Order: sequence, then C-alpha cells, then structure tokens
Amino acid sequence: MAKQRNLILLGPPGAGKGTQAQRLAARWGIPQISTGDMLREARRAGTELGKQVAAVMDSGGLVSDDLVIALVEERLQRTDAREGAILDGFPRTIPQAEALDALLAKMGRDPVRAVAIEVPRDDLLERLGGRRSCPKDGASYHIQFNPPRSEDVCDVCGTALVTRPDDRMEAIAKRQDTYERDTAPLLGYYEKKGAVRKVDGVGELESVLDRITRTLEA
Ligand code: AMP
Repeated sequence: MAKQRNLILLGPPGAGKGTQAQRLAARWGIPQISTGDMLREARRAGTELGKQVAAVMDSGGLVSDDLVIALVEERLQRTDAREGAILDGFPRTIPQAEALDALLAKMGRDPVRAVAIEVPRDDLLERLGGRRSCPKDGASYHIQFNPPRSEDVCDVCGTALVTRPDDRMEAIAKRQDTYERDTAPLLGYYEKKGAVRKVDGVGELESVLDRITRTLEA
C-alpha cells in the first residue's frame, strides 16, 4: 500500500482546524473526517443519535468517547480513507487518542502525525464570534476573515447562514474550558511519541496552510 497520511489537527475551538482540514484534504485527495460535522449531520437528519447529542453539543460539552470512537471507526473503513485522512475535532480526549492508535494498528494503517495550531485566546474569541455556518451543508465562514460571496448566504447551496448554537458566548466559554481540561493534555500525549509539530495559526488562511504543509514536509 502507498504511504498513508493520517493527520490530526489539534488546537482550541476557533484555531481554524476545520478550515485547514478542508483545504489539506482537497490538496492531498484524502477525506476530511470531522466528528463535529458528523454529529451535526445526524442532527439535521433527525436521527436518534442526533437527538441524543443535541443538548450536549449546544452547551459546549463533549459527547461520549464510545460514540465518537464508533463513528470514526466506521468512517475510516470506507474506501475513500484507504490512503489516509485528515481528522479534525477528533481525538478530543486521551481515551479517544488511545482508541485511535489501537484502531489504526488493528487496521494495519500508519500511525498518526499531529499538527497543533496555536492562536492567542483573544483572537479565538473574535474568530468564534464572527463565525457563520450553513445549516444545510455545514460550510463555515467568517464575517470578516472568510466572508461568503453574497452576504449571509452559503456560497455552495445558497441557504441563509446562521450562528451555530455553540458559537454563542455562553457556549464558547464552556467549550474553551472543556478544551483546557480534556483536550489540551493531548499535546503531551503526542509530544511523548515525537508525533506533534506546532504551527502558528495567526494570519491569512493560505499562509497558515503553507506553514502546515512546510512543517509536515520538513
Ligand atoms: P466541532 O465542530 O469540532 O467544534 O464540534 C462541535 C461539538 O460536537 C463539540 O462541542 C462536541 O459537543 C461535539 N464533538 C465533536 N467532536 C467530538 C469528539 N471527538 N468528542 C466528543 N464530542 C465531540
């Protein structure tokens, strides 16, 4: 099998993981796997799973490890992920990181590399506060840094954009706390394995993308 690229993007809410994952996936021709998008899709479809997780997501908490691990396991087995995947928003806890390592080993896949996108806290608030999302296809914009072509309307499907419930100020504070408590320890987890590189996430989207690809190729 050709060499695989299994990359995870780490960083606090608002660091740009989804945006960069989308661009890297397009550049490398491998899928972006976002557990947040998968969960939002389940909600839009009105599935039992979507109903179960809605309140937790809107409050800024984390859904259960078992549930997201099962979603990722199923997704990684699809043929389009044979040559690797860009994971964004997963893993978010140490048990999820351990499960991912075990899963890739079981599937005979290459271990993950991680990129941690670093952005100061004040910038994060500005980014999350200005984020607008498409309720139909999940596309994400920013009123200032990445505006849609027509104001408040999705470029892809023309649907009116909304502020995600978890991008409201109360939920943002909770997501930041959740990140510090449950997800920031992943940096140490991947550092111990020598598998993480840090990248400055401040600046134009394209400059950050170049920094990420140069870091990975170095
Ligand atoms: P995101 O789009 O990555 O910010 O995810 C939105 C919300 O989905 C999070 O605030 C969590 O409630 C839930 N979620 C997404 N990914 C995970 C994960 N790996 N573990 C637990 N909850 C998750």
